[in-house]
Amino acid sequence: MPVLALDIGGTKIAAALVSDDGEVVRSARAPTAGDPWPVCLALLQEVRGTEAVDGIGAGSSGPMQWPSGRLSPLNVPGWRDFPLRDALRDAFPGLPVRVHNDAACVAVGEHWRGAGRGVDDLVGMVVSTGVGGGLVLGGRLVDGAGGNAGHIGHVVVEPDGPDCVCGGRGCLEAVARGPAVVAAAREQGCPARDGVELAELARSGDEIAVRAISRAGHAVGVGVASAAALLDVRRVIIGGGFASVGELFWEPLQAAFARHARLDFLARTRVVPAELGGAAGLVGAAALVLAGDRYWSAD
Ligand SMILES: [Zn+2]
Repeated sequence: MPVLALDIGGTKIAAALVSDDGEVVRSARAPTAGDPWPVCLALLQEVRGTEAVDGIGAGSSGPMQWPSGRLSPLNVPGWRDFPLRDALRDAFPGLPVRVHNDAACVAVGEHWRGAGRGVDDLVGMVVSTGVGGGLVLGGRLVDGAGGNAGHIGHVVVEPDGPDCVCGGRGCLEAVARGPAVVAAAREQGCPARDGVELAELARSGDEIAVRAISRAGHAVGVGVASAAALLDVRRVIIGGGFASVGELFWEPLQAAFARHARLDFLARTRVVPAELGGAAGLVGAAALVLAGDRYWSAD
């Protein structure tokens, strides 16, 4: 039987009906604004139609209390301490409801049905408005003490680098998140207003734009090398806007990874683009229910 999936981010909310083998049957999305709850509910009802479903899986940007699913997403000001899991249970009585961090859902989606199929140990990450990640080790999602394992965006890659939204300094997210890369380029006179324009300028040979994207790729490579050594993973899967920019991002990334990941056991580790694109979070959220033996450890 299919399940309902929900993916809540700072710019959009997406819902889907996902079949038990992981195919997105129907999906819908809406911009994030104000109180997102009525939007979540309307999207879920729209994609459900009259189908019988087996449960609901949801991924949201954090921070959240896990597994209770109380959310205070930094980029969703309309929600502070919102009890998403309880609200979904009330709205869909009798159905199991599971909630996790959106980046953990992306890692799960890619492991279950994307670039990580058949690999037991991987890091899945997204380089976008923020930088997030999730860990699958021994074929199972790793939660950490509070559901926050995999926050690779806050691995330090430039100790004297820019301030981070977390209050720290030089985190991977502070260097490589899209808005930071655009801002750094603009400070040097580049006219790009967003990541898409920056990528276009870089492709046309604009040196400042090329350097800005290269710095982001390099920072991701450095962070990933540290994570791979710490975790002994065979694959690192990267999705999000910059991952689709192409060689301008990937060449400095792979060069930095090759420079820093020197232990013998890392020779077999591959850093690859994500396969599921924007659907990874929804597919992963669905897998919290559909493949709960591997991806859900809580009550
Ligand atoms: Zn940080």
